[in-house]
Amino acid sequence: MNPPVQIQELTFDLLKQKKVQLFIQRDDLLHPHVSGNKWRKLKYNVLEAKKLGKDTLLTFGGAFSNHIAATAAAAQLSGLRSIGIIRGKDADPENPTLKFAQSCGMELVMIDRSQFRELRDNQWAGAVLDSYSKAYVLPEGGSNKLAVKGCSEMVEDWSEQYDFACCALGTGATFAGLVNGVPENTRCLGFPAIKDQGYLQGEVEEFLIENNSKDWQLIRDYHFGKYAKVNDELIQFMNQFYKETGIPLDPVYTGKMLFGLIDMIQNDYFPAETKIIAIHTGGLQGVAGINVQLAKKGKELLNYPID
Ligand SMILES: *Cc1c(COP(=O)(O)O)cnc(C)c1O
Repeated sequence: MNPPVQIQELTFDLLKQKKVQLFIQRDDLLHPHVSGNKWRKLKYNVLEAKKLGKDTLLTFGGAFSNHIAATAAAAQLSGLRSIGIIRGKDADPENPTLKFAQSCGMELVMIDRSQFRELRDNQWAGAVLDSYSKAYVLPEGGSNKLAVKGCSEMVEDWSEQYDFACCALGTGATFAGLVNGVPENTRCLGFPAIKDQGYLQGEVEEFLIENNSKDWQLIRDYHFGKYAKVNDELIQFMNQFYKETGIPLDPVYTGKMLFGLIDMIQNDYFPAETKIIAIHTGGLQGVAGINVQLAKKGKELLNYPID
């Protein structure tokens, strides 16, 4: 029922030199518009919305949110309406993400930041909407139990054993799904894309299936200052990575994870003969938005072909 995924082995010199095997799971190719982990996170939620007889997906997100773009596209594909509550009255409806969401028929509501927080965090308002309207309410980032269930299917196509499985974290739901899904002897490393003040550990634990004895750990050294922040070093790394592998990364999540992972390989974190799989969770729709911002500052751009 899920599309088959491609798992590619990377072969650049550092890996040969360190005798470490690194594979990339191309979840970014699962669907052209409902990309990567958002495809997996939305799958059971869309089915649930339909089962409940809802006609609309309503959700929350920032002006460049992968989740907003993916929800808009998923709603259109499944014959549902969609409403996006967008953080910031000043959000630009013409930016590439919001333009795309509107082209899928998403209705946008820009609200100021404090109102956004209040609405997003008000479980009661969500519950009222859920029970009295035809809208199915998805939390920001789409992170709920059904999303975690979808993400645990990430390992479905694995035909060999990996010593380590890695993915990037925003809310932690995707990583929790990965941890739930992997076999006992695969260790999971999560790379937060935000400066984690320590709450992410608990967020992940909440989403784990009970009596979980899986070995997992958060690697907190590669957030580059804060969420969605980039610097020249990261952009250069991503352009170089694309040149060597042909794989485009996104600047918010997967770019930082791969930067971190390769830094760790360089620093001999992994012993020789280690087999690592890294999940490419998608997010490439964000490249256009970041390039607009980089261009304004006269900086080097991400030089991928993007459609
Ligand atoms: C949303 C997103 C994540 C983070 O997912 P969480 O479940 O919120 O941790 C990681 N990678 C990409 C590309 C994303 O779009």
